[in-house]
Amino acid sequence: MFQFTEEQLSVQELVHDFAQKEVLPLAEENDKLGLPNKEIIAALGEMGILSLNIPEEYGGSGLDEISKVLAIYEMGRTCAGTAEVVSTQMLVNDIVLMNANEEQKAEFLPRVAEGKIGAFALTEPGAGSDAGSIRTKAVRDGSDFIINGTKCFISNMGKDEGDFVVLITVTDPQKGTHGGMTAFLIDRNTPGFTVGKLEDKLGIRAASVSELIFQDCRVPESCVLGSVGDGFRIAMSGLDGGRIGVASLSLGIAQHAFDSAVKYSKERSQFGRPISKNQGIQWYIADMATRLEAAKLLTYNAAYARMNNSKDVVIAASMAKYFASEAANYIADKALQIHGGYGFIKDFDVERIYRDARILKIFEGTSEIQKIVISREVLKK
Ligand SMILES: Cc1cc2nc3c(=O)[nH]c(=O)nc-3n(C[C@H](O)[C@H](O)[C@H](O)COP(=O)(O)OP(=O)(O)OC[C@H]3O[C@@H](n4cnc5c(N)ncnc54)[C@H](O)[C@@H]3O)c2cc1C
Repeated sequence: MFQFTEEQLSVQELVHDFAQKEVLPLAEENDKLGLPNKEIIAALGEMGILSLNIPEEYGGSGLDEISKVLAIYEMGRTCAGTAEVVSTQMLVNDIVLMNANEEQKAEFLPRVAEGKIGAFALTEPGAGSDAGSIRTKAVRDGSDFIINGTKCFISNMGKDEGDFVVLITVTDPQKGTHGGMTAFLIDRNTPGFTVGKLEDKLGIRAASVSELIFQDCRVPESCVLGSVGDGFRIAMSGLDGGRIGVASLSLGIAQHAFDSAVKYSKERSQFGRPISKNQGIQWYIADMATRLEAAKLLTYNAAYARMNNSKDVVIAASMAKYFASEAANYIADKALQIHGGYGFIKDFDVERIYRDARILKIFEGTSEIQKIVISREVLKK
């Protein structure tokens, strides 16, 4: 059994109480509006949850990877879209922390502690799973760079939200992924950078996902994150933590679906007894409970691997993301089935949970890509 520290458990309790009292009652409305809830995001900033993994010297909470897992899990049990905002923010924080210089950290990280959110922009219309094929170009002009291109599906960027972005570009197409790509840390108000279409999504509707357009966007060399040519490595530096974040979100969504299904199965009677008395339903519940527990253990295992700088973190994070996201979809599907026709209508949370779960198998590396990573790690030994 994993033993959590007092500190980790108190973070979980703090987020649990806030999420159940303040976030859950608004989840349906957030979903209908299809926008992040500004008051909730501001409160998460004030509570130090958006900046959970940022050290105290930059205004953050300075907490560890397990605390991150528990915080995202508790948020995911209420409003998955809001939990996705938090999960993305942890990824962005990590990338900045691992790769930025002191001036950049001092400029951008305290903003998160003030409740502002940032984004990580890699995906383009022609480059999803194959991230090495991006086309957004940054061309040197004296001591500046001029950026042109379009990013799509970028979380934490919307009409009103999204303060800064970690942007991955191509600086030398001849060199490819190793040496030819450069990361930038860019303020939203930079001339030439605009937020385009806000996507109208199936689920996690309380999280903004938008297109980003760069048109002759001039930035000084001081915006380079890390060094010129190091962009692909920087993009990949966030992968393990990002995958653990999505696994944690999967746990929250799965737990919400599971709890709703168990409760409903005891309340709903057909043929003169609660449907939970039927072995067919009990077997669903056993499968759901087992997959949820296995997903939790894989996610905690990956978080410990990351905290301990284990060489196994890559495979552990991929396994956690792959298994937990598939488990969440299985559990959401079975929870809806247990609700029968009522699961299909919006009066019950499970309808929203089912939609929210679907993205888990796609972003931060699809399930197919996770299987490529896992098998590659196994076969190289
Ligand atoms: C809501 C949402 C939020 C997102 N947030 C962000 C974000 O903040 N930042 C960001 O940069 N991106 C973000 N993304 C993009 C996301 O990471 C990509 O959608 C994802 O990586 C898949 O890329 P794609 O959609 O282009 O699909 P494709 O890569 O075109 O894949 C299509 C299908 O082909 C499969 N496939 C592809 N290659 C292989 C292969 N070699 N072997 C087997 N199967 C393969 C895939 O698994 C998938 O099933 C977001 C996407 C969504 C929908």
